[in-house]
Amino acid sequence: MFHTAIAGSLPKPAWLAETGKLWPKWQAEGEALARAKADATLLWVKLQEDAGLDVIGDGEQSRQHFVHGFLEQVEGIDFDHKVEMGIRNDRYKAMVPQVVAPLRLKGRVHATEARLLRAHTQHKIKFTLPGPMTIVDTVADRHYGDRVAMAFAFAELLNQEALALQADGVDIIQFDEPAFNVYMAEAADWGVKALERAAQGLTCKTAVHICYGYGISANIDWKKTLGDQWRQYEQVFPALAASRIDQVSLECIHSQVPAELMALLAGKDVMVGVIDVASDQVETPEEVADTIGRALQFVPHHRLIACTNCGLAPMQRGVAEAKLRALADGAALARQRFGA
Ligand code: ZN
Repeated sequence: MFHTAIAGSLPKPAWLAETGKLWPKWQAEGEALARAKADATLLWVKLQEDAGLDVIGDGEQSRQHFVHGFLEQVEGIDFDHKVEMGIRNDRYKAMVPQVVAPLRLKGRVHATEARLLRAHTQHKIKFTLPGPMTIVDTVADRHYGDRVAMAFAFAELLNQEALALQADGVDIIQFDEPAFNVYMAEAADWGVKALERAAQGLTCKTAVHICYGYGISANIDWKKTLGDQWRQYEQVFPALAASRIDQVSLECIHSQVPAELMALLAGKDVMVGVIDVASDQVETPEEVADTIGRALQFVPHHRLIACTNCGLAPMQRGVAEAKLRALADGAALARQRFGA
């Protein structure tokens, strides 16, 4: 009951990459960089286990950004000529690569870190991939001329990598779809179908993470415009409830998401965000248990997984470590309080 997991990313140590940034520069190259990525991954495996988490991830230590880590292994994308594009409905501008030819995988994307993770923990392991809709919202299209066609092209490649990750021993494959909270009608219409294409044939658990973004100022400012009830999930949850995806990760603590929207996910495991990623204030176990208690009005005990609202990538490492402990301690307290 109340297993614990992180949404995905964790801060990179200063010897691996620039700290406090969403698109950090690496501090090494070649073999030295590969070694540093592996060392950072092992460090976070140990810290997640020591904190007491149940599901362990690689903390996305081997990718510069949650979307571009995947794109770097895709043929048909021009990384040498990036263009500025407004993303997430123009919430912020980013320099993005361009799709210029039919898409194909160059080879395995995450084999190294997935196998490293599998070899170094006995816990269940979760691996994250960007979702098709969020990818098409983070690249410039100079080839397909159609967002849906391009999303399904990416979904096929994601599926190839996801099936290979499953063969590597990954227990849960999670697709990150923050774009679902921005293009709600399209998400319910074709976004969930593209997601299911990416998950086709998987027999391990599948998950989707939908959030209001990292704790960066563009996102914090955007949230201020959303009013006192954030009902974005209301449009996409019914489509997800009808889908084959097993788990849904959502933002909860310190958000204006009405808790009753979780009732729309009947039949799914719900990863409830009980750790705020937009504040350096470390949650107390009591706060975490209170948030779990609120979610329990709408989510059955056996379906609730305690999670972070989003990734912790841009945070200070010490704060992130303390938040991992708060997550595990809070879930333990909730087990005492709400256990049968
Ligand atoms: Zn997120």
